[in-house]
Amino acid sequence: MIHQTGVNKEFFLDQYLSFSHGETLRDLACSKCGETYPHTIPQNVCSACGKPLLARYTLEQLTGTWPRETLLSRPASLWRYWELLPISNPADIVTLGETMTPLIHTKTLGAKFGLSEVWVKDESRLPTGSFKARGLAMAVSKAKSLGLTQLAIPSAGNAATALAAYAAAAGMTAHIFMPQDTPAFNKETCQLSGANVTLIDGLINDAGRIVAERKEGKGWFDVSTLKEPYRVEGKKTMGFELAEQFEWELPDVIIYPTGGGTGIVGMWKGFAELEAVGWIGKKRPRFISVQSTGCAPIVKAWEEGATEATPWKEAHTIASGLRVPQAIGDFLILAAIRKSNGAAITVTDEAIREAMQLLPTTEGLLTCPEGAATVAALKQLVSDGRIESSERVVLFNTGGYQS
Ligand SMILES: *Cc1c(COP(=O)(O)O)cnc(C)c1O
Repeated sequence: MIHQTGVNKEFFLDQYLSFSHGETLRDLACSKCGETYPHTIPQNVCSACGKPLLARYTLEQLTGTWPRETLLSRPASLWRYWELLPISNPADIVTLGETMTPLIHTKTLGAKFGLSEVWVKDESRLPTGSFKARGLAMAVSKAKSLGLTQLAIPSAGNAATALAAYAAAAGMTAHIFMPQDTPAFNKETCQLSGANVTLIDGLINDAGRIVAERKEGKGWFDVSTLKEPYRVEGKKTMGFELAEQFEWELPDVIIYPTGGGTGIVGMWKGFAELEAVGWIGKKRPRFISVQSTGCAPIVKAWEEGATEATPWKEAHTIASGLRVPQAIGDFLILAAIRKSNGAAITVTDEAIREAMQLLPTTEGLLTCPEGAATVAALKQLVSDGRIESSERVVLFNTGGYQS
């Protein structure tokens, strides 16, 4: 029988069954107070302090026994980092084909800004058109392993589209709460995937409150980002891919469009895990968090030197993924920016609109407004002298263009 890597699903699952490390997920620990929780039952936030729980692995068991070369024979998918993912039975994997996303050297764009090393991690290639697929693939797989069937989510758009798809694939029901003015693409795709959609008069935080109120009585499990511990585990694979694609030498700067901040928190966590198992050294990229001037709670906190953010009032921006007035992981995002020697900056919607043309015209790459925000930020950082011409910079294009 001939197997094509990543194509034949049976082969794909078999590969993971043959791994030798057994279960590597140890437990969940509160990111604030350290209280620990078992991963064998559904968990949301810390019951003591209300902050996010993060997965811990038996890293010491992997150190020295899990060579990087193991990856070479595995499919080009986020599941290749199996030992550092929270699923232990391959039969629980719910997959729509989460391909490793290309890391593209954008020479013409870079030259425009006087840089020779500008790279774009193009997350638009993932199922449902955005990197939200990484997190929801993980959360829905974990939900399957725990026997959950009713999942509820507040969303600014793309997380809803991803949950609707993964829930459909898993035979689960998705209950989606999102703002009335969420992009049509997200509203329509959720409906097409058979989710129960409720449009609310408010923003993602208001949607989050509604989910919190209704879930108990209805038996729904809340998969809000960072209130559910495994979406961040999916998002951290962006950092694993970057490390692998750059041959285990992290770039100097990562420019990341920040909403709930799950990507920054995830990559920061992922880099620490890679260092612990001996795959990378101490070097970390400077994390530059980008928000819109219409909704910039993290930037405001950063500028004020605060360790937590205050809720943003009257949030508005054309980049719907950045329209997150309050992030439960604010202190984790701010810590990652600070510890990495990074920064947080705003760009205007006008600058985002202008930047929407830059990657398509120079490189032929279509971007979402959030991805364009990183290009606008690059322009600003270069003109402020905060990025040097010799530095290697990665922009995250977090989703595809939608009209
Ligand atoms: C959700 C989203 C973001 C923000 O991601 P976080 O990791 O939650 O900060 C950025 N861009 C797009 C396209 C999104 O859907």
